[in-house]
Amino acid sequence: MPMPKATETVLEINLEALAHNYQYLKSLLHPTTKFLAVVKAFAYGSDQIVIAKKMEALGVAYFGVAYVAEGVALRKAGITTPILVLHAQPANFETLITHKLEPSLYSPRILKTFLAVAKAQKQEKYPVHLKFNTGLNRLGFWENDVDYIVDQLAGEGVLKVLSVFSHLAASEDENEKAFTDNQIASFEKIAAEVDAKLGYSPFRHLLNTSGILNYPKAQYQMVRSGIGLYGFGNDPKIDLQLQAVATLKTVISQIHKIEPGESVGYNRAFHSEGYKTIATLPIGHADGIGRHYGNGKTYVNIAGKKAPIIGNVCMDMIMIDISNIDCKEGDEVIIFGKLPSAETVAATANTISYELLTGISQRVKRKLV
Ligand SMILES: *Cc1c(COP(=O)(O)O)cnc(C)c1O
Repeated sequence: MPMPKATETVLEINLEALAHNYQYLKSLLHPTTKFLAVVKAFAYGSDQIVIAKKMEALGVAYFGVAYVAEGVALRKAGITTPILVLHAQPANFETLITHKLEPSLYSPRILKTFLAVAKAQKQEKYPVHLKFNTGLNRLGFWENDVDYIVDQLAGEGVLKVLSVFSHLAASEDENEKAFTDNQIASFEKIAAEVDAKLGYSPFRHLLNTSGILNYPKAQYQMVRSGIGLYGFGNDPKIDLQLQAVATLKTVISQIHKIEPGESVGYNRAFHSEGYKTIATLPIGHADGIGRHYGNGKTYVNIAGKKAPIIGNVCMDMIMIDISNIDCKEGDEVIIFGKLPSAETVAATANTISYELLTGISQRVKRKLV
């Protein structure tokens, strides 16, 4: 069945593609390995509620968000699956507990502050997750914090450590295999020490999407995937196995004929050497198509043909060269989706699919297809 054509700028969300990607990633794992779906940043710029509901229906074990407000939004939408908050801020610890979210504790300061809040709320065995730094040098306890952690947790039983985890720095990079193997080895050493000193064995998790693809031996009891669910594997071969969940479409607002020597857009950044036909689209940097995509770097897709973005990207508009394309005002334009993919478009501006996807602003209407 042909898809209905876009009539305005819209980010289409395809839940069948999401289910396909989930099943593909699951097929690479042991049947018993739990799956945490990362839905931070509006589920990588799509729609975290729609995505989380689908993933909950598919039986995902956990959700991961960056901040407390993201977890609260999921709870308010009726999501009951456990939610790990990767980067909760102390200012929101009470709210976190109210909504039964589970914090990542990653430093002595965060552990102490969370323990005090949980104690004040008379919590018992409140579920928490310990994050260790094994080389990314972003967030995480050091190995020699284990004694301090165990010491803080002893006694009243306010907190219960459900899992121990870490994050890989370069799981997509073959040239960093030795570094990654080293991270895996230190993670195992730390997790074993936690087990021994804590007297019980929290479950373990380390792998993000590229980790699942390249280091399945380190899947432990759970993996955490974001970008793979949305259709990208940081590897063109894997991308062929995955399907884009989000397609960004818009329409042609106006067509102009221009003559040699004329310019297009702000700062007269595009100068025409010949007779050209150009089109104006209702999407700009305020929608997430940044200025770095302008001036010929990136093209959009009109009925299968490539039309380059010319001149500077404006706040609400871009202009494209349609001189060799048979199209008219009102016609549909694909910014990214299957062709070109978000990864391809991102690469034209030296960035990655993660940035392009999460940057699509809330002004763009989300639509389930
Ligand atoms: C964002 C994030 C992930 C997901 O990574 P992908 O590469 O999108 O699969 C996993 N773990 C942590 C700690 C994260 O911050």
